[in-house]
Amino acid sequence: MTARHLTSIAVVVPCYNEELNIDVFYTSLRSILETLHIPYQVIFIDDGSSDQTLALLNKLADQNKEVSVLALARNFGHQMALTAGLDHVEADAVITMDSDLQHPPEVIPQMLRAYESGFEVVYAIRESETFRGPVKRLTASVFYSLMQHITSLPVIPGAADYRLVSRQALLVLREMREIHRYLRGMVPWMGFPYAVVTYAPRDRHAGTTKYTLSRMTQLAKHGLFSFSTFPLTVITWLGVILSALAGIYLIYIFMITVVFPVSGVVPGWASVIVVLLIVSGIQLISLGVLSQYVGMIFEEVKDRPLYVLKQKRLQRDKDES
Ligand code: UDP
Ligand code: MG
Repeated sequence: MTARHLTSIAVVVPCYNEELNIDVFYTSLRSILETLHIPYQVIFIDDGSSDQTLALLNKLADQNKEVSVLALARNFGHQMALTAGLDHVEADAVITMDSDLQHPPEVIPQMLRAYESGFEVVYAIRESETFRGPVKRLTASVFYSLMQHITSLPVIPGAADYRLVSRQALLVLREMREIHRYLRGMVPWMGFPYAVVTYAPRDRHAGTTKYTLSRMTQLAKHGLFSFSTFPLTVITWLGVILSALAGIYLIYIFMITVVFPVSGVVPGWASVIVVLLIVSGIQLISLGVLSQYVGMIFEEVKDRPLYVLKQKRLQRDKDES
């Protein structure tokens, strides 16, 4: 790996109803970026907020020539907001981070040093998980070990969407237009050499999490189903095993009725029902898994744009005018 010189930085920040955080966030981000003496740009993406977020962002852009603002026409979700930002930046190193101060800007210099020593991707990960509730920790650890085993991607536990990608990695990432986006899988999928820096986790500065349980489930589903066909393999094997068992059972019935007829074979109502229930249960699960993939194929073939912009205010447009 060869050392290289960094000439520009971009920071991509999705915001959804973050009116209480934006000013504090930008102040702390800027205080770090200013110490670096490298040209930088910060691009905020308003993800269809219903509060004053967009107005505040535009005010920031009025006051700071480094600030660009994109506004999505409605709430498209965190992964799409990130994508919109990544599509509109131009820099040697691009950092994505949250706007609620849970991702401390203080680790940015470390991430940039890793970039300069040649890494194309740098993950900033929480150094401890203890501040999260036991339920979130348990579900996260089950999910990540599942992902690790069935997708063979180097999934880094604790790595959220706080990371740096080089221009080279960014260009590849932009080529990946799947609608079921799971950047935490898409970035490792590219396979570039990566470095990891750690930070002490913090609580949200203000407001509440936008990742409700159903959104977490959605993200986990995208991660699992778009990176693996393992669930399909599982149902196939279930089918094979069940058929084999049924075959053995058939032989047994043939034996006791035709070859060595046993007298007084009572029609076993209970066992029939049990078998019926088990088999139809497995069939339904299998159908469910299949329909997950069919549904995702359906959404993917529509080939719609991933997000819709209602405002595009880029720093370079300002330079031109
Ligand atoms: N976010 C977004 N669109 C959404 C949900 C969240 O742009 O639909 C942004 C949010 O403003 C924040 C980041 O994504 O900057 C992470 O969201 P949040 O802090 O709610 O998630 P958590 O940290 O609880 O996982
Ligand atoms: Mg947060």
